[in-house]
Amino acid sequence: MGTTSAESLARTTGTAGHHSERTIHAMADDSAEATIERIHCNVCRQRTRHQRLCKTVDTETEELVGPGSIDWVTTQEALQCCGCGMAVLRRTVVCDIDEWNTVQYFPPGVSRHPPSWRRECPTDMRDVLDEVYRSLDANNRRLPMMGARTLIDMLMVDEVGDVGTFTEKLKKLEGLGVISSRNREVLAVALDVGNAAAHRGHAPKADEVNAVMDIVENLLHAVYVLPKMAENLKKTTPPRPRPRKKSTP
Ligand SMILES: [Zn+2]
Repeated sequence: MGTTSAESLARTTGTAGHHSERTIHAMADDSAEATIERIHCNVCRQRTRHQRLCKTVDTETEELVGPGSIDWVTTQEALQCCGCGMAVLRRTVVCDIDEWNTVQYFPPGVSRHPPSWRRECPTDMRDVLDEVYRSLDANNRRLPMMGARTLIDMLMVDEVGDVGTFTEKLKKLEGLGVISSRNREVLAVALDVGNAAAHRGHAPKADEVNAVMDIVENLLHAVYVLPKMAENLKKTTPPRPRPRKKSTP
């Protein structure tokens, strides 16, 4: 680790039976240590070269109530993408116990990009949709699935009214021709994932979460975006010329 410490701060705190000692080093990045590395960029949507702008290392020793102590090293770095210029903060915590070690990014890596057409959805649904994406970015599984279920329910109430259970609403939606019978079965599966997350603590796998999000996005797109797109296309497409009537001799 580089030792070009520009600033050093030592602090000791103590309470009965609990004692910790802390040292913070803020260092300018003129050390021989590599300052370029490849990490994920949310804007470029891939791993790109990042330049480290600055770094602080915070060392802390925590005396345990019983015998012994734990050493914590918290490293914070500002990293900037060499492609798009977007910066991200990384906090790495390392201690004597491996399973307590963590690496966090702020803002966190985007796991799924919100669709550009979401502004076409009704405001209340767009708000829930945005919360679902933020929850996905924080690496949650259950909360986004509960949100997805809420979105499907809101859409059903919007289209057919509050007509009872999910199954009844889905049937009504199919009856009105908003969805096909095949779509109804797919939506029932997506709703059940949300139910299992809400009532049975079920944590779906990442690909299952993505499948449910695909279903929800397709539904919202089909109901709120495609009809408007079709209407606009109709206005801008020149009509087919009428066939000329054959003149009779
Ligand atoms: Zn970038």
